[in-house]
Amino acid sequence: MGIRLLIVEDEAELADFVVRGLREEGFVVEHAADGESAWDAMRFGGSWDLIVLDWWLPGEEGLSLLKRYRQSGGTAPVLFLTARDSVADRVRGLDAGADDYLCKPFAFDELVARVRALVRRRDRSAELTISHGDVTVDLAAQRAKRGGRSLDLTAKELSLLTFFLRHPGQVLSRTRIYDHVWDEAFDGQSNTLEVHVMELRRKLETHGPRVIHTIRGRGYLYESTPAAEAP
Ligand code: CA
Repeated sequence: MGIRLLIVEDEAELADFVVRGLREEGFVVEHAADGESAWDAMRFGGSWDLIVLDWWLPGEEGLSLLKRYRQSGGTAPVLFLTARDSVADRVRGLDAGADDYLCKPFAFDELVARVRALVRRRDRSAELTISHGDVTVDLAAQRAKRGGRSLDLTAKELSLLTFFLRHPGQVLSRTRIYDHVWDEAFDGQSNTLEVHVMELRRKLETHGPRVIHTIRGRGYLYESTPAAEAP
């Protein structure tokens, strides 16, 4: 059984080059050249070890495909290809569920290196848990623990905690958290997020010190060290 890669890229010359090169590297490669056939392959093409996804495509664009794929439960790592090199765009890609990105034009060797790294990472995380400090989320079972003790979380609290665990030590703006966990635009008014954070905090703090810190005017920081030490 080879490692199965799906390459979604509409520029024929680039796609040919990448597909041929990856096959020479020993991967089993399939190719889709537009949004519609990409979606069919992503959802119904069997289990992929990795999807290389271009941003701009005829039909549905890559970012939207990626969101849809993650929402429908697709778990293959996604390497996002983009000509966009702004930090905001890269963040959008990563927030939508990409595991890594590569800006065009790229060197083929770098693509191969990233593909290998992502496939290795997937093998390592096959147990599907994510943890930081003494907090662990079992993504398959949809359960969370702190210090070995189960936390009774709602689905929203669990996805909120998962998002925090994926970005420890980073200040996450309310907009970014909201966009990811609620999958809708933040209107800046609603206190839904604050309420959920408060509740999640209460449940976490019955089993240990504070890990979700409020950074005034900026958002939240997930960190096992005291907030005073945070930048
Ligand atoms: Ca393109």
